[in-house]
Amino acid sequence: MKMKHVLLSGCALLAIVSQPGFAKKIEIGLAIYDLRLERWQKDRDIFVQKAESLGAKVLVQSANGSEQTQISQIENMIARGVDVLVIVPYNGQVLSNVIGEVKHEGIKVLAYDCIINNADIDYYISFDNKKVGELQAQSLVERVPEGNYFLMGGSPLDVNAKPYREGQMKVLTPLIQSGKIKVVGDQWVDGWLPENALKIMENALTANNNKIDAVVASNDSTAGGAIQALEAQGLAGKVVISGQDADLAAVKRIIAGTQTMTVYKPITQMATKAAEVAVQLGKGEQPASNAKTPNGVKDVPSWLLEPIAVDKSNIDTTVVADGFHKKSDLN
Ligand code: BGC
Repeated sequence: MKMKHVLLSGCALLAIVSQPGFAKKIEIGLAIYDLRLERWQKDRDIFVQKAESLGAKVLVQSANGSEQTQISQIENMIARGVDVLVIVPYNGQVLSNVIGEVKHEGIKVLAYDCIINNADIDYYISFDNKKVGELQAQSLVERVPEGNYFLMGGSPLDVNAKPYREGQMKVLTPLIQSGKIKVVGDQWVDGWLPENALKIMENALTANNNKIDAVVASNDSTAGGAIQALEAQGLAGKVVISGQDADLAAVKRIIAGTQTMTVYKPITQMATKAAEVAVQLGKGEQPASNAKTPNGVKDVPSWLLEPIAVDKSNIDTTVVADGFHKKSDLN
C-alpha cells in the first residue's frame, strides 16, 4: 500500500499504522473515457460496489471522450495519492508518458477492457476481442450469405476497434474472395457516437441507392444510429445488422426485429474480477492470470473472458438469466 501524499509526518503515520486493527483503505482511481455510453455506467456501478465491499474507496472520473481530459484526470488522481489506477483508455496509444509518472509514484495500473500500449502496466482485463468481431460477422453471414455489406468500424482511436474488425474480416474474407459478399463501404465512427453513425449510414444508403443488405456494426451505440437511418428509409428489420454490449435499447431492438444480434460481454464478471484484482494490486499482491498480452513493453498478465452472441432466441438464457437486464425492463 502506498503511503505517499498522506498529510501526516512519517512518525505520526507509523504510530497509526502500528496500532492493532488499523488498515489504510486502498484508494482506487477509476478513469473511464466516456460515461455517456450506457455500457460504461454498468461497469462503473458494478466495479464500485464490489471494490467498496472489499473495503476500498473508489474515485471515478469520466473524460467524456477527450484524450487530453483523460490525461489530466489521471494526473489529478496521482496528486490525490491513489494506490491503484484502473483505466479504460480513450486512446491506448498515447498514455505512455502519463503512465510513466504513475509508475514513478509507485501506483499500480490495471488496463480495463482496452490494452494500454507501450507502457509498463501491471495487469489487463478484457474479453477475447477478435472473437467479438467473429461472432458479429458470423451471425450476419448465416442470415445473409450473399449480398452488399457495409462495414461500420468503431472509434479509430480505440485500440479494441481493430481486433473487432480483424475478427469480422476472418469470417467475411473467404466470402468476399468467392464473390458472394461485396463490401460497398467501410467507415469508422468517431467516438462510437450514434449521431456520427447515423450520418455515415445516411450517406452510405444514398451512395448505394439503398442497396445494402447487411451492416457490420461494431457495437450497439453505432448500430442504434445506423438503425435510425435505416428506419427513415423503411429498411429497418430488412437489413441485418450486428452490435455489441447488450445495451438495453439494443436488446429491445432485437426483440422488435430491427437489430439482428448483439454481443453480450458479461460485464458483471469483468467488473467484479477487476475490483478484486485492483484491491490485490493495492495490497502489493500478484493476482492470478489466464493469459499474457504483449503491449510493446512486456507481456502483460491478463484475464480474458469469453463473449456471447445474443439474438432473439437466447435473450432469456443469457442477459436476463444473468440479471444483466430485468425481463420486465425489456417490454
Ligand atoms: C468496448 C465496447 C464499447 C465501445 C464503446 C470499446 O472499447 O470494448 O464494448 O462498445 O468501447 O464504448
